[in-house]
Amino acid sequence: MAEKKAPVKKGGILGWYFNFNLLYRILIGLVIGAAAGIILAATGIDKLPEWLSMFGTIFTRLLKMIILPIILSTLIVGASSVSPANIGKVGIRIIVMYLVTSALAVIIGLAMGSIFRPNAELAVLAANAAGKTASVSVWQTISDIIPTSVASAVVNEKILQVIFFALIFGICLSYMKIAQDERLARCGQVIYDFCDGVAEIMMKMVKGIMQYAPIGVAVLVCEVFAKNGAKVAGSLLIVTIACFLGYALHILLVYGGLLRIYKVPAKKFFNAAKTPFITAFVTRSSNGTLPVTIEGAEQLGVDKEVYGFSLPLGATINMDGTAIYQGVCAIFIVLSVTGSSLTFGQMCMVVLSATLASIGTAGVPGAGAIMLAMVMSSIGFPIVEATPIAGAYAMILGIDAILDMGRTALNVTGDLCCTTCVAKQMGFVNKEMWK
Ligand code: ASP
Repeated sequence: MAEKKAPVKKGGILGWYFNFNLLYRILIGLVIGAAAGIILAATGIDKLPEWLSMFGTIFTRLLKMIILPIILSTLIVGASSVSPANIGKVGIRIIVMYLVTSALAVIIGLAMGSIFRPNAELAVLAANAAGKTASVSVWQTISDIIPTSVASAVVNEKILQVIFFALIFGICLSYMKIAQDERLARCGQVIYDFCDGVAEIMMKMVKGIMQYAPIGVAVLVCEVFAKNGAKVAGSLLIVTIACFLGYALHILLVYGGLLRIYKVPAKKFFNAAKTPFITAFVTRSSNGTLPVTIEGAEQLGVDKEVYGFSLPLGATINMDGTAIYQGVCAIFIVLSVTGSSLTFGQMCMVVLSATLASIGTAGVPGAGAIMLAMVMSSIGFPIVEATPIAGAYAMILGIDAILDMGRTALNVTGDLCCTTCVAKQMGFVNKEMWK
């Protein structure tokens, strides 16, 4: 592991900006953006002028630009760094922990929905905002993970497919590196070094992009508040409270419990998790936050061998916040259109389909809302145009950005928590960093 150097103070006219703690800069951006958005909403302006909104767009585009190269390089390096004997043990533990925490998250979401019972009483409401999403079956979601063309998976940003390919590539590379045949071992090492170099370059890019984050964040948050500020009320407020309370409970009960079971110091963990948490909150993208989550893992002393594999995987398949949101919103939609809650069977189906949906949800803004349509179909409430179901779904879409902030923050915290716990259990942690 590279030694951390003391930060060098920057000079020049922007020195004051660069020398101020990045986390505080992002938080100040968030507060300024929210305040400006609320003022705009109160004065009836729900849209920023194009030139201003461009500053937010630039930030999201910069993050999106580096997603694929980061996933490809870090996942290949991660999967090929672990010796073939260990990848099985670490990999299986991580995947099982990801799945179990996601299932617990849906249960917490359903509990929150059942307690708060958000109900928009839509049975008579005209569903003017019809659902535009095509529902995808659970089984198709699973088979879709395998790309029919790697090139098209990359071009069309099918993140899960890219992850699948990168994982297989990395695993094969790990065998090649230790091959008896000298030529094969040499080729393996060259490819590994190349990917390792690309991963390092990407991390440098990320550090630069994050310097722009406070500005991008202020504009993005302002847009959300300007658009939703006045309208977010009543039942939608209850949905929001139920979701956020669910997110908080999940951190306390599930992550708190895991940290205790695996004897990871909670203070140290949450200290390292706060920057990824806030970055995810404002960018609404687990994938975009990945580089920051990686920094968090480094602060916790987790070996690159583990996080290089588990964090890119978690950014795409581990979505605890999204799972909680699916539980609360499923209850909101069913209550709103039928007046009664879900049956036990329907709740079980929500747990299964929302767990799978959270795996199939790409770590990008708003993806969870698309998967909600799949969950609704699985319990017999497909989002069909001009029905109250579509109306309730459209209402959720209206506040999706706000819910997405919290769920994405939880998603990345979950990735870091599972990674740290498994790394601790398997002895892949430098405990010196915990002192
Ligand atoms: N925005 C979330 C994430 O990146 C995914 C979602 O929409 O639920 O983790």
